[in-house]
Amino acid sequence: MLARHRAVLPDWLALYYDDPLEITHGEGRRVWDAEGRAYLDFFGGILTTMTAHALPEVTEAVTEQAGRLLHSSTLYLNRPMVELAERIARLSGIPDARVFFTTSGTEANDTALLLATTHRGGNQILAMRNSYHGRSFSTVSVTGNRGWSPTSLSPLQTLYVHGGVRHHGPYAHLDDEAFTAACVADLRDLLGHVRAPAALIAEPVQGVGGFTSPPDGLYAAFREVLAEQGVLWIADEVQTGWGRTGDHFWGWQAHARNGPPDIVTFAKGLGNGMSVGGVIARAEIMNCLDAHSISTFGGTQITMAAALANLGHLLEHDLQGNARRVGALLLERLRTACAGLPGVKEVRGRGLMLGVELIRPGTGLAAPEAVAAVLEEAREGGLLLGKGGGHDTSALRIAPPLSLTAAEAEEGAAILERALRRVAG
Ligand code: PLP
Repeated sequence: MLARHRAVLPDWLALYYDDPLEITHGEGRRVWDAEGRAYLDFFGGILTTMTAHALPEVTEAVTEQAGRLLHSSTLYLNRPMVELAERIARLSGIPDARVFFTTSGTEANDTALLLATTHRGGNQILAMRNSYHGRSFSTVSVTGNRGWSPTSLSPLQTLYVHGGVRHHGPYAHLDDEAFTAACVADLRDLLGHVRAPAALIAEPVQGVGGFTSPPDGLYAAFREVLAEQGVLWIADEVQTGWGRTGDHFWGWQAHARNGPPDIVTFAKGLGNGMSVGGVIARAEIMNCLDAHSISTFGGTQITMAAALANLGHLLEHDLQGNARRVGALLLERLRTACAGLPGVKEVRGRGLMLGVELIRPGTGLAAPEAVAAVLEEAREGGLLLGKGGGHDTSALRIAPPLSLTAAEAEEGAAILERALRRVAG
């Protein structure tokens, strides 16, 4: 099949499996391939299936909206968009919040960077090492991962900060408190050498980088330093929002002792697979852009209808609570399964955002080839996983729909344990 498609697809298209997998339908936490084989989906699409595959409420809302109107342009009042913006503004915790919808996480971060640099002036941005913020020219230029490094003259000047990766880099050996103090001192030192940047952009838990996060409170400590120079804090919640991390509705809340970020971006799960992204910011920041900034496809009725139904289901069924409970079971189960396995460096995460970091035994070096092999073994066993990591990290990523049951967690963990043991042995 791959050979058949190569004539029309770019060579760099990253398909996960040696023998490409074609998913044809899904239900709940499972998907089926073109040959009718079922898989437990431990990656939720790509963290896009937030509640469940083929959630009836979303299907009904989309079908009903499609029968009436797909799109009327953002030049006219759009009731589902207003309703969703109201709900998100209330949920955001940001005072006097305004919401602007986009079609992807990349575009959401692009908009956030445009807002920050317009509001503050200058083109300097702080970003974290090992981060990922999207594929456009500006978002690639604030991504701290060699695989997506900026190609040439990005409009932004980016300075990279320590702290996003807990167990790699110069401060990895320190305990949490000393790690945080070292990263804060590093940031303070950096700001002493440069003109004040417009903003710091950071993922509360790094996604593509391998589901790794700093100690709780790091970004709150950063914020105190940033605030001295008026530097804005942009939280990229594309992977961490909507209760994914279990303990909190937003990932930034693990750092929240001094209030919400100035700007929050979101995408992925809100539409349960429909392309919905967006930016939340205080009115004074949002309103520095003018009407020329409208987006043709941001906030279309069809995507807003899907997102409203999906978010409603998530809140009514307390899927954040489910992520906390089932995530804790799964984390414990995986830690037990991996104890003593020589190729496993760490099992980490919170809620239903768990990472298993693999290394070459005896060396501590990243083992992307082992990650790929575990993915293949798990697929054979009927389990789909994600992978990630930076230049010195390699991890399996586990992010199932937030409705995962305890029985499914056990089923997936057993398949993963077998796959890890096969690859290790
Ligand atoms: N920000 C984060 C944290 C992401 O993980 C991603 C995608 O993986 C993006 C932004 C880009 O989102 P999209 O692929 O929807 O453009």
